[in-house]
Amino acid sequence: MRVAVIGAGTMGAGIAQACLGAGHGVALYDVDPGAVERARERIAEGLGRLVAKGRLGAEARTEALARLSAADSVEAAATGAEVVIEAALEELEVKRSIFARLDRAAPAQALLASNTSALSISALAEATGRPEQVLGLHFFNPAPVMALVEVVAGERTTAATVAAARSFAEGLGKTPVSCSDAPGFIVNRVNRPFSLEPLRMLTAGEANVPAIDAAVVEAGYPLGPFAYLDLVGLDVNLAATTAIWRGFDEDERFRPSPLQEQLVAAGLLGRKTGRGFYVYDAAGRRGAPAAAFAAGAAGAGAAGPGAAHAGAADLAPAAIVERIGSAIINEAYLAVGEGVATPPEIDLAMRLGVNHPAGPFERAGQLGLRRVIEGLARLESAYGERYRVAPALWQVANA
Ligand code: NAD
Repeated sequence: MRVAVIGAGTMGAGIAQACLGAGHGVALYDVDPGAVERARERIAEGLGRLVAKGRLGAEARTEALARLSAADSVEAAATGAEVVIEAALEELEVKRSIFARLDRAAPAQALLASNTSALSISALAEATGRPEQVLGLHFFNPAPVMALVEVVAGERTTAATVAAARSFAEGLGKTPVSCSDAPGFIVNRVNRPFSLEPLRMLTAGEANVPAIDAAVVEAGYPLGPFAYLDLVGLDVNLAATTAIWRGFDEDERFRPSPLQEQLVAAGLLGRKTGRGFYVYDAAGRRGAPAAAFAAGAAGAGAAGPGAAHAGAADLAPAAIVERIGSAIINEAYLAVGEGVATPPEIDLAMRLGVNHPAGPFERAGQLGLRRVIEGLARLESAYGERYRVAPALWQVANA
């Protein structure tokens, strides 16, 4: 197949690599020609790592790289493409103008996909004369490695388009999960409590960074929430939270954490800046919690964001994990109630997209729905309606 990738940054390069690995020809375009050249180098390195691991032959690597071409315009990339994947800047007007150009240049039958994390697929589709062929193909970073692709149907995307996109994703060796065009799709939305709940506990002085991370890792998650925030980048996570919060009319349950906003404003973005909730060495290895967040740091003169609420550790590990898990379960039921996706697809997405040991519905089954509801009711009476039990959760529990 001929695939066009528009935008050659982190995601565009990764998606192009995944497509080359599946035997497709890829035309790559970026407004910054240097970005295409850097992408080519990263792809060559990425394929080189596969050769080193014995998963790809050296000749196959050379052959794959020969199928990558640099296009000098959106139109040149799209001409003759069966699938177009846009992975440019996350700005509505930038993407809408790209989709209008794709509409003029891409073959009549082409799938026109966006890798947007937070923008409305329907709003992008309306920039074209063929909204039925426009959809979201939301890859996860690093795209060559992560198995999950959310296949997002806009208001006018046809079932045939979704089916074709799912089989394209499967051809890349990925696992497609279908969902509707709601803010945050599945994973970014359902996983919001994984960072927001710990930030609230920390801010309220209910538990500290090392206690929360240790409890969550002990429960089988690959990373604690604060280590995860540092890895993703506090700014990147904050942008996603803010976009979803706005997408849900500033609903309290997605309100960004003021503490996180302060850290971002102070340039403490996590691993990439050497400091966030933890301190990192020059090689990017995680060390101790940053002074303000070390256990017992409160009142110890630790200045800067977080200092006022760093030391407490009152919540037991099991309570920490259950609270995060219950908020995620509730969000998953809200998503199901809104028709975003089915429970099995949400479970699959959460296991593959953020490596949770169990999906929210599996976890709800383990805990028992009554217990989840009771926990949420306690949280609602303590903190307000952001913990209100999802109607779909009530229904299932009472069925
Ligand atoms: P990035 O900043 O690494 O790359 C964006 C690239 O787009 C840059 O090279 C830039 O020069 C290029 N660009 C800007 N305007 C353009 C235009 N008009 N035409 C063509 N190229 C243009 O960003 P990224 O992390 O690769 O994100 C790309 C998209 O993927 C965004 O929509 C983002 O929300 C989404 N996304 C990102 C991640 C992630 O973890 N980084 C995950 C899933 C989805």
